[in-house]
Amino acid sequence: MLVVMKADATESQVAEVLRIIQGIGLRAHTMRGATRTAIGITGNQGAVDPSHFENVPGVAEAIRVTKPYKLITLDLCPQKTVVRAGDATIGDEELALIAGPCAVESRAQTLAVAEAVSHSGARFFRGGAFKPRTSPYAFQGLGEEGLEILAEVRQLFGLRIVTEALDEAGIDQVERYADMIQIGARNMQNFSLLRRAGRSHLPVLLKRGLSATLEEWLMAAEYIMIEGNYQVVLCERGIRTFAQHTRNTLDLAVVPAVRQISHLPVVIDPSHGTGKSSMVAPLAKAGVAVGADGLLVEVHNQPERALSDGAQSLNLEQYHQMVDEVHAIHNAMKPAVCEAG
Ligand code: PEP
Ligand code: MN
Repeated sequence: MLVVMKADATESQVAEVLRIIQGIGLRAHTMRGATRTAIGITGNQGAVDPSHFENVPGVAEAIRVTKPYKLITLDLCPQKTVVRAGDATIGDEELALIAGPCAVESRAQTLAVAEAVSHSGARFFRGGAFKPRTSPYAFQGLGEEGLEILAEVRQLFGLRIVTEALDEAGIDQVERYADMIQIGARNMQNFSLLRRAGRSHLPVLLKRGLSATLEEWLMAAEYIMIEGNYQVVLCERGIRTFAQHTRNTLDLAVVPAVRQISHLPVVIDPSHGTGKSSMVAPLAKAGVAVGADGLLVEVHNQPERALSDGAQSLNLEQYHQMVDEVHAIHNAMKPAVCEAG
């Protein structure tokens, strides 16, 4: 059930609807849009009786939800959600850049990359302290020491930190040091982790699973939002196909597909999406051209010496070049404005 308030509904009328929802033992999710407030209802097993909201002052209509989605949907929130990490945003007219190494390897490496990322105008810095590696013998990340280095990056450069949590205890740690929790592709259907992220005060970057359909990915976002955290960014990072020319197949069509269903912002990860540094800039530009709200890109000061994902990491020069190119595309796509005079 979705309760849509009239455009001129007052705060006390909204509060009354919330009281009714709580009174029947259900959970209310209030979304305040530019033109109207809508309230999603979760926790019901069967259909909610719409008569609860009939003749309630300020209510425009109570709509039965027939789609599998309740909270990610444009029916609840017709405008795109702007996700905020401090003063940095994802989902507004700016192109959000989330850049940094695959893994935090050392203080010197991380600060060298962070300096370049900061000079590029990016507002977000990425880097894994906990790495989900295919092999248990591969570098697993520096753990808490890595988080301390990331906190130093935030302090020195004012960049907002995006970093992965592999488990629920990891979220406790990430909350102490970072600005945004990354849920990795391999954890996209780790439902207890998603629920824990939903109880966090930090926004969440939710990567698409290696073989997840759009519906499965959006349902994973619902798991986060049902707990009350509506600050979710979707990240397309490529899916497994039979292609051998790339590490994964970057599904750029998913950006307009998400737009038709959801108010959540979408960013593109051309690094994991291709696995090859030479393909990162072309796919980053394509991602911007199809309307992505931002890019997540791996950058390393010495890619050939990286402890993880070196083959897909841009060096600093390639990174700056890519940033110039994606801004050119993004600016060209801005709607023309009429100059008065
Ligand atoms: C990463 O961002 O470094 C990472 C491990 O990503 P994914 O979960 O998409 O593989
Ligand atoms: Mn990586």
